[in-house]
Parts: sequence; C-alpha cells; structure tokens
Amino acid sequence: MNASHGNEPITYTAHAHAKVNVHLGVAEPREDGFHELVTVFQSLSLHDTVTLTDLGNAEVDKPRVQYLKVSGPHEAGVPEDDTNLAWTAVDRIMQHLYVTRGGIKIPEVGLEIHKAIPTAGGMAGGSADAAAALRLAERCYGRYYGIDSVGDHILDALGAALGSDVPFTLLGGTALGTGRGEQLTSMMTRGTYHWALIASDRGLSTPSVFRKLDELRDAGRASAPALDTTEISQALISGDAQRVAAHLHNDLQPAALSLRPDLRKTLEAGMDAGALNGIVSGSGPTCAFLCASQEDAEEIAAQVSIEIPGTKGVVAQGPAAGAEVL
Ligand code: ATP
Repeated sequence: MNASHGNEPITYTAHAHAKVNVHLGVAEPREDGFHELVTVFQSLSLHDTVTLTDLGNAEVDKPRVQYLKVSGPHEAGVPEDDTNLAWTAVDRIMQHLYVTRGGIKIPEVGLEIHKAIPTAGGMAGGSADAAAALRLAERCYGRYYGIDSVGDHILDALGAALGSDVPFTLLGGTALGTGRGEQLTSMMTRGTYHWALIASDRGLSTPSVFRKLDELRDAGRASAPALDTTEISQALISGDAQRVAAHLHNDLQPAALSLRPDLRKTLEAGMDAGALNGIVSGSGPTCAFLCASQEDAEEIAAQVSIEIPGTKGVVAQGPAAGAEVL
C-alpha cells in the first residue's frame, strides 16, 4: 500500500513482469481449439506498473472499476475499457468474493497502467497486467472482507480463466508450463540471464500465429513438436548462458517468420551485433537475444534498434519475480 490518509483515496501499486519462453514446444490443437504446450517460461525484470486506487465510496450498491488510464512507451493499442484484461481481473475478484463471502459494501476503484512491455509482442504484457490486477484487487477488497488472501489456487484458477499466461505471470521465476501453459512447475536455475529485446511497432496476433503453424505443419513445412525440455533444463541448472543460448527453441518461430518475414533481418542483426543467440519471443514479433553480459545486451539493443526501422530496443534480466504488490 502506498498511501492512506483518513477518507482520502488509497492507492496500491504492483509490478507486472514480462516473460520470455526459452523453450516453446507446440503440439497438435486440442478439441477445445487450444494447442497443448510444453514450454519453459522465464520472468523478466521488464515490467508494467499497475496502480489501483480505492475511491473510498463504499456506500454504492454496484461497485465497479470507474476508470482505466494507460500511459507509457507502449500505450498504443491498449484498451481503456472493460476489454482490458486488468479491468476484467478486478471484476473477477469482486465476483468471487461476492459469491463465496456474500455481498457487502465495497468501494469503486480506478486503474492506471504504465506500459513498458511491448503490446501484442509475445511477452505476455496483458496477462501480466491481469496478474497484477488480481493481486491488487485481492489486497484492496480483502481489507473490506477482513481477509489477507483469496488463496493461491483461487488466484491461479481465476488467472487461467483470463488467459493461458496469467498463472505464470502470477508465479514468476522460471517454470515448466504444460496444458495451455497454465499448469506450472517451478524449475531450478542458476545465474542471471541478460536479454536484449527488440520490439516491433506492429504487433502480431497470437491466434493467427498458431493458425499459421497448423497450416505449415499440414503442408509439411514445419518440424514436429519439440516437447523434450531436458537439454534446456540442464543448461539452466548449469548457469552457463552460452549453453542456454544453444538450446533456445520456439516451435512458433517459423509461423511468426512466415507472417512477418522482416523479423529475419532483426534476428540476423542481433547475431551480427554479438548476441549469443536470438529467438522470436512467444508468438512474436518481439525478438529476444540472450547476451553474455549487461553491457553486451545494452549495445545489442541499441545497435539493432538503430539498424532496423520500426523497432525499439530494451534490456532485461531474468529470472525475475511474478506479479507483486509493492
Ligand atoms: P502473449 O504473449 O500472452 O500471447 P502478447 O504479449 O502477444 O500476449 P498482449 O500485449 O498481452 O499480447 O496484448 C494482446 C492484445 O490484448 C492487445 O492487442 C490488446 O488489444 C489486448 N489487451 C487487453 N488488455 C491489455 C493490457 N492490459 N495490455 C496490453 N494489451 C491488452
């Protein structure tokens, strides 16, 4: 909690961390349309900042989110209404408390999101904001219900219903994700990994990239699913960035490159600038380069973003925390 002055609004702030998939294996589509995944997530220091303000008017009958404001370098394209995942997350906590603990007078709230995570960039920015909003709403409304927590398993379930990446962005660290990526097992790793992230001005829709992969596979133009994470797991335990770099893998990369051939140039530019290895992050179009040091990451981010028009470079370290109220 950041401030509490009598009847004045109380603000709560949380960090919402981006992720990179150091391994992303995509199996065949399931009957529900989702693809079965075997992925290794790493949470990154790069984060959005989500602020929830308790507007203090607990006498209203139907409390709701009163406003949502988005700012920051990646604000473009982020909705400021109830289609924003953070807004939905607050509603879900409210509904859960209402159903399980009964209706009481709780206040309206306002939300602000400072976007530092590229939007529609394959870095789970929206999911991370939702995870942060779940924790913020739990903290804010929990006070009125006299509870500290709704329980981690409830947050996970509410998160998974919002999006496949929400449970990981709640958890953070490094984790093996199966199912839609929402079934998680924390993994042991050593060391800090330095990333140069090159975001593109134009986003890529995640469903379109999965559809493209299915098409490529049907046409025999994409490899079989890479569902074995033994090598990347051992590399992460070794703490050797070079070894991790050698085992970075993304089954979605050929599909992302087919939809956005320009990303090949970005990947080449990162390698030419001295990255240990580079991959498309998740469904892209952000390209993630693993680097030998923080200095290398800064230089590579700067060099590639100057060389490739329509890109922005940023550095991040992993693993980092999950969504956390400050
Ligand atoms: P993932 O890696 O989980 O597939 P992504 O990083 O590619 O996701 P997001 O940045 O999460 O994509 O956003 C995808 C779309 O979701 C956006 O284009 C936007 O319309 C919508 N959206 C809803 N809420 C948010 C939010 N809080 N931040 C960003 N986008 C949001």
